[in-house]
Amino acid sequence: MTRFIFITGGVVSSLGKGLCSAALGALLQARGYKVRLRKLDPYLNVDPGTMSPYQHGEVYVTDDGAETDLDLGHYERFTGVPSRQSDNVTTGRIYSTVIAKERHGDYLGATVQVIPHVTDAIKEFVQADISGEDFVLCEIGGTVGDIESLPFLEAIRQLGNELGPKRALFMHLTLVPYISAAGELKTKPTQHSVKELLGLGIQPDILMCRIDRALPEADRRKIALFCNVEEEAVISARDVDTIYQVPISYHEEGLDNEVCRHFGLPIGAEPDLNRWQNVVNVVRKPEGEVTISIVGKYVQLKDAYKSLSEALEHGGIANHVKVNLDWIDSEIFEQEDAVTHLEHVHGILVPGGFGERGAEGKIQAARFARERKVPYFGICFGMQMAVIEAARNVADLNMASSTEFGQTPYPVVGLMTEWIKSNTLQRRTAEDNKGGTMRLGSYPCAVLPGTRVAEIYDNVSEISERHRHRYEVNINFKEQLEKAGVVFGGMSPDGVLPEMVEYPDHPWFIGVQFHPELKSKPFHPHPLFTSFIAAAVQQSRLV
Ligand code: GLN
Repeated sequence: MTRFIFITGGVVSSLGKGLCSAALGALLQARGYKVRLRKLDPYLNVDPGTMSPYQHGEVYVTDDGAETDLDLGHYERFTGVPSRQSDNVTTGRIYSTVIAKERHGDYLGATVQVIPHVTDAIKEFVQADISGEDFVLCEIGGTVGDIESLPFLEAIRQLGNELGPKRALFMHLTLVPYISAAGELKTKPTQHSVKELLGLGIQPDILMCRIDRALPEADRRKIALFCNVEEEAVISARDVDTIYQVPISYHEEGLDNEVCRHFGLPIGAEPDLNRWQNVVNVVRKPEGEVTISIVGKYVQLKDAYKSLSEALEHGGIANHVKVNLDWIDSEIFEQEDAVTHLEHVHGILVPGGFGERGAEGKIQAARFARERKVPYFGICFGMQMAVIEAARNVADLNMASSTEFGQTPYPVVGLMTEWIKSNTLQRRTAEDNKGGTMRLGSYPCAVLPGTRVAEIYDNVSEISERHRHRYEVNINFKEQLEKAGVVFGGMSPDGVLPEMVEYPDHPWFIGVQFHPELKSKPFHPHPLFTSFIAAAVQQSRLV
């Protein structure tokens, strides 16, 4: 029997609903249950793929090629359950499904309305593609009170009613602020937020109270009384020093017990949270530290590189070191010498990116890393920039570039128009729609034996990693680049698309066309990140 937990947020945004959902998923999993996490996003974009990272943060890509909300990254990192297309839906997608059905005549002459047609489509989504999960956790994006989330709240209200309390639970995340002028904690915002939810027909079963200090018993009682929940169901979600502490703290506060109690499940033995405790111990007591420079474009908004910063931290955990991130806007290298910004760092990472702005700076960062023998990790765009750098400065292909930036005499990075996915031919052209037309999702990659990447991947012959890009390193320049010292350590199995490049005579210089950060977990740091941070540790002994 699948049970549904609906997670809403109130008072203000950015309370960490995604992390809260992920942590509850991890706790239920530690109790031996099979979980799946989903996100319902109220905006009108069909998916976040076309949104600027400044707007929405990172686009998280699933194995099956969906461009999704970054919270799915939290879910996957915390539970290890690979997310799927069916785990993220937006108002845009719901409406386009409903409108397509209407045009097709599927509503048999009915007036198509938010209730029941849109809400039915939402309910269908919530319950679709479930395979024996004990719990499906559904996070509703936005804050209660937003106009745009109303259809979602109405749909989960209906579902709560249809499924009954034995199969549905409403959890609400709120804020209990401390007002320093009064020297008091305030429960009123929580009361108002619950009132708002009640007005929509939803009585929360559990309240998660974000708070920066201990929640006094008197305040807990007050919240329970005014919000019509049991005292034990008022859980304090106190600020913690590392995100890996969140599941441990929630357990100590009784969250998973309360969920079990609600569903009439046995509380039983304590869940084993040792793996979380081990990670927390390493994070709190590192044996050293390294500094990695991330040379990118969206550096003002850290959420734009969420999985990346997490994966670097995982690499640090694997090496028992703290990883300091030095965010650099690559455009700065167009005015200032890279040396002054990069001389002190132990590793340089050029992440994924789009468009010409800042590209020259990234090319300079790759040059600096190659010449000064500083560990370099180029991811997607970062690999493309490293290849352009090699073409221009080592292979003497002056003005080599990517066709993403316009005409070039040497298109060492270009648009691939045809490729194979699961034995079928895929096509794209420069005129394609922007949404959903990239090489997206998991693709296999054949690893060349004897290379550094082969060693990093434990000498397996084939790996699978997730992609999100339109352009590719141009195979027609392979020989010239090889003469310049570039080794193609990974290729698509048909030998057409370069997937990994490296310099064997460099301490650590690797470019990958895919996004390894999407699959890294705190308990299973991605081998490329583990190896990159190990190289940075070596470098830190030299600098
Ligand atoms: N802009 C490049 C492309 O589309 C790289 C994309 C990326 O880094 N994700 O191929």
